[in-house]
Amino acid sequence: MTKEKKKTKKKKAKSSFSELGLNDEILKNLGEAGYEIPSPIQAELIPIAVKGQDCIGQARTGTGKTAAFSLPVLQQIDLRRPGAQALILAPTRELSEQVAEEIRKLCPDKSLNLSVLVGGKPLRPQENQLKRGAQIAVGTPGRVIDHINRGNLKLNTLEFVVLDEADRMLDIGFRPDIEKILRKCPEKRQTLLLSATMPPPVERLARRYMQDPVVINLSEDKVSVDAIDQYYITVDPNRKVKLLSRLLFQERPKQTLVFTRTKRGADKLDRIFSKKLKAVAAIHGDLPQPKRDRVLKEFREGKIRLLIATDVMGRGIDVSGISHIINYDIPEFSDDYVHRIGRVGRLSSDQKGAAFTFVAPDEGDQLTNIENRINHMISEFRVDDFEAYQPQKPRKKIETVSHLGNTEHLINPDFGDF
Ligand code: AMP
Repeated sequence: MTKEKKKTKKKKAKSSFSELGLNDEILKNLGEAGYEIPSPIQAELIPIAVKGQDCIGQARTGTGKTAAFSLPVLQQIDLRRPGAQALILAPTRELSEQVAEEIRKLCPDKSLNLSVLVGGKPLRPQENQLKRGAQIAVGTPGRVIDHINRGNLKLNTLEFVVLDEADRMLDIGFRPDIEKILRKCPEKRQTLLLSATMPPPVERLARRYMQDPVVINLSEDKVSVDAIDQYYITVDPNRKVKLLSRLLFQERPKQTLVFTRTKRGADKLDRIFSKKLKAVAAIHGDLPQPKRDRVLKEFREGKIRLLIATDVMGRGIDVSGISHIINYDIPEFSDDYVHRIGRVGRLSSDQKGAAFTFVAPDEGDQLTNIENRINHMISEFRVDDFEAYQPQKPRKKIETVSHLGNTEHLINPDFGDF
């Protein structure tokens, strides 16, 4: 990154969409969508991207990154011309659908033809959409390749490629697919890359497939997690179910997302908590797509209030009502911690969220890695009337703040023992 490019970070953020180089039609659509003030990533990325420059935006979901990359694309594509002009790659089916939904919101023009190319759904309707001349294709790398191989998706007319949540796509093994796609794309194109974290594999991908990109890093080296109160609770592994039930009772959260390390772990918690509570569900990659869609829809509508997810699934969840994140299993990689807690304290929500991480006595090093990653000491939290087996010495001042989401009890007081 040159010195000149670094300067883009220090510019004063613009406070109105009209200062970002967007045309009148897009400004009108933004007004209708209720977007008044650009978020920091939008204020930084849009003015550069509308000029056709490659950009890397370090931003997590919930910061308005979808509009940040979509608006410059929408401004530059020609809606009178059928055929693929923009390809957006995303790590999960859910995220692809979310991106498509946001684009439709930002561009209600009937001549915009959008196709969502995701696995787990029949090929034929996707193929038909492409044949109808979709100008924008959004999808997961595997299914996109499928359509390229079948001759349904032609890349020679592409002018824009977006890699959304690039770190996650690489994490889950999409690197070969992404490279295969990028090698087939025209060299003369604009590439935008969005990523919550910038590990070396993402940097390598950017170096190889982007042209002199401007890097917009709003998080600097410190991940901005100020909107979330973060705590850890030391607990013996076989007391975790009990702890979760007590914590839910004490906190009375509006909506909670619980992360487990494995799909089996998610199912197990779902079984246990569904016996005692309504509005509980699990979501992970082994569930059939219609079930996943239904669970996400109900979570978004607030019908599900306790959702248990694995990392891959949790990543695609954009639900403004989430007040609490509970890391039932401490994340294996500290970047996953950042992604997990990024589910609360979202742009569209004005409440301050809380994140709790259960830490087994032998997982202290993992907690330290996370603290180093986020450059922030996580405080210990105490749950009333709960004795974790052999609790470790508190490392810091103990806080007993309550994060009341609403007054309705999610958990019955006589929740019982497990
Ligand atoms: P994203 O980070 O793209 O997942 O966006 C998070 C949520 O914020 C989505 O529900 C968007 O519709 C919404 N959003 C994005 N930008 C703005 C904005 N400037 N003003 C209000 N809401 C926004």
